[in-house]
Amino acid sequence: MGKKKERRRRHKRVDSPRHWVTCPHCPHHAGGFKRSYQSRKAALRAKKVQHLDSSISAYRCPHDSEFWHLGHLPRAVQQGITTRGEMYQ
Ligand SMILES: [Zn+2]
Repeated sequence: MGKKKERRRRHKRVDSPRHWVTCPHCPHHAGGFKRSYQSRKAALRAKKVQHLDSSISAYRCPHDSEFWHLGHLPRAVQQGITTRGEMYQ
């Protein structure tokens, strides 16, 4: 029971990390601009795929609330870019 459904869902899963666009507002510390993800989930998936440090968090773009970036949470909060409350919405 339910086995068929599971298999179908697995087949449909998208593993591609290329679900991002370049943010025109936020410069990346390493040069260029930050990657924007369409959801917190997508950002966290990308973090996993890239094996990023656990101190990296997903946060909402301060200029375009439809997108999410990956970065260091303490620094983002320090700069007043975002608040902890927004972070866990
Ligand atoms: Zn941005």
